[in-house]
Formats: sequence, C-alpha cells, structure tokens
Amino acid sequence: MSEHYWCHGPSCHTYATQDRVRGSKGSKVLRTRKIKINNNGWPSGFYKYFCSNSCYNSFADKHAEQIIKIEPRHEPLETPIEDPKKVTRHSTYNPDYSWTETEIKKIDTSNNVG
Ligand SMILES: [Zn+2]
Repeated sequence: MSEHYWCHGPSCHTYATQDRVRGSKGSKVLRTRKIKINNNGWPSGFYKYFCSNSCYNSFADKHAEQIIKIEPRHEPLETPIEDPKKVTRHSTYNPDYSWTETEIKKIDTSNNVG
C-alpha cells in the first residue's frame, strides 16, 4: 500500500516543469506534485509534505504568523558554555600551516535533576 501527499507549496502548481504537466491534449494543466511515501516511511519530516525547499519556504512565508503561534518565543534561549578558548590548529597536510580558532564547549547539563 503506497501512501502519498500532495505538495503543500502554495505555488507548486504554477511552476512550469515537464513533470507537472498533466491532462489530455487540448486540456493540459500544471498540477501540484505528488510525494510518494515508500514502505520505509521515506521521505519523512517536512519532506513528506513538500516537493522542494522552495515549496516549503513559500508555505512557511505565507503562514509565518500562524506557525509562530504554535510555539511563541518571548525570551531568548541559552546554552551554558565554558569560557571560550583560543586554540592553535596545525594542518595535517602542511606542517607550516596553522590557524587560530575559538573553541566553544557546551556544558553538559543532561545529568542535572529538576
Ligand atoms: Zn511543490
């Protein structure tokens, strides 16, 4: 049994590509793309509902206000880190080449209770 979804991109049916052409001679149309879900459940996530990043982006753009209402954010989130350190890295291919990076390590808070 194969499951499918129609792409939710609001303009999917307006893009002039050969694979969207449907209908019989004299009454041709550009049709929204169909996304087939295989037996392993692929594609998953938003790729189930959108044929391309472009269709996903135009849906998100059109419905941004409603999407944000799902999980409104009034304060920023923060991830605890150790004090950043400057470290010098050396190329494994060219020993004469080195560069400086800022090392940022997250503090593991997964054992904290509460
Ligand atoms: Zn699409």
